[in-house]
Amino acid sequence: MVNKEAYNQLLDELKPRGVELVAVSKLKPVEDILALYELGQRDFGENYVQELFDKQARLPADIRWHFIGHLQSNKVKYIAPYVHLIHGVDSLKLLKTIDKEGGKAARVIPVLLQVHIAQEETKFGMNEAELAEAVEEWKQLSHVQVRGLMGMASFSEDPNKVAAEFARLKSLYDNYKEPYAFDTLSMGMSGDYQLAIEKGSNLVRIGSLLFGRRS
Ligand SMILES: *Cc1c(COP(=O)(O)O)cnc(C)c1O
Repeated sequence: MVNKEAYNQLLDELKPRGVELVAVSKLKPVEDILALYELGQRDFGENYVQELFDKQARLPADIRWHFIGHLQSNKVKYIAPYVHLIHGVDSLKLLKTIDKEGGKAARVIPVLLQVHIAQEETKFGMNEAELAEAVEEWKQLSHVQVRGLMGMASFSEDPNKVAAEFARLKSLYDNYKEPYAFDTLSMGMSGDYQLAIEKGSNLVRIGSLLFGRRS
């Protein structure tokens, strides 16, 4: 079930601030995606390659599919022909694989590099040295375009901690923004998007607020 009221409220918050919305539809049926599509939403985010593959085939061709999950190199080929933006590029190896598959698909695939900003070890992402190396190596690649950074804050009750993690990602983003023409900073989910916007996010990835809790 889609919460249309929450969707409209969210757009009222995001639009004046120039923040883009990716509606995270993982584990939700195509009917829910269509319900938001009919309200005008075109950007949707998925976490699992097989699920995205199935949904993409059944849904309108003008949907912009964002891959926001942890992507394994051997699965890039399944999404390379149509994916709009890959958010979670967390290694140089993955970046190079995306470049190779972009070449095969005769396109330049837009991506974001994922930075590890949370305290939890379980979350994915590069450290600052790995980020610097990936950005440097990217210059040699012609079928992948790094558009910016993505990060996930700690799952914490402490807003100061979450705010500090977002602020750190924003400052890294600012370092690269001018020299590398970055334009996308993907941070913020249902529970922390307001804080993320306050700290400079221009793209939020929101699921449960729109589609309800996942089982
Ligand atoms: C699931 C997921 C989201 C959306 O989370 P909600 O809390 O449901 O808004 C955002 N980003 C990533 C990377 C996710 O895996």
